[in-house]
Amino acid sequence: MMMYGIIVKNKEKGMENLFIFDVDDVICDLKFIIHKALLIETGQDIHYNDWYSFNLDKVYNVDMKVIMDAFFKHDILRNGQLNTNIHSVIDYLNQEKVKTMALTARGWNPEGNEITRIYFEENKINIPTLKVIEHHESKSKIISNLRDHRIIGFIDDNPRHILETEKECGSHVNQYILKNQPWNKSTEISSKVLRIDELTELPAIIDKSLKNTKIRKFKM
Ligand SMILES: [Mg+2]
Repeated sequence: MMMYGIIVKNKEKGMENLFIFDVDDVICDLKFIIHKALLIETGQDIHYNDWYSFNLDKVYNVDMKVIMDAFFKHDILRNGQLNTNIHSVIDYLNQEKVKTMALTARGWNPEGNEITRIYFEENKINIPTLKVIEHHESKSKIISNLRDHRIIGFIDDNPRHILETEKECGSHVNQYILKNQPWNKSTEISSKVLRIDELTELPAIIDKSLKNTKIRKFKM
């Protein structure tokens, strides 16, 4: 006879829930300022809806140095447009006692950490933990080391970070979320990854994820 029981894994009993946010083009949109900057610096007017790849050197057919120089010259990290829906998502996470972390590859700018902290402060983004990695580094390495937390969700717009983390961390992250952007439109994702258009979709996803992590059903 098949019976079903409910357990909360002992190991996970004292663990805190954690939600991990990417910053650029999730919490704040850089695509508007980058479009302007590259129009000025390359003379090419390629709308961000036509950015088919995360690698803008390919899209604009220029050297990566041209892109990076434009990023510095136009100070893109300070000029991102805040996604104002982020506040209600953070409020919801606080209410559910879920800790938050921002994990960003803004390390290409030596001031990445400081600029982001100030941006968060000025825009009242209450995410206490900020981790800045290098552009080429893998977020999966950081996430796989977060063993003392129950990671209820990880959202990013860069398909590389979602795919790498899913491959390396698997069920260590309860819900992978890809924020829809033009450059990830054609990315093939597994059924474990959810796509969202708007941050307002997050509370319902987090609610479901919390229910799934609190209670695990098993056969006995
Ligand atoms: Mg991003």
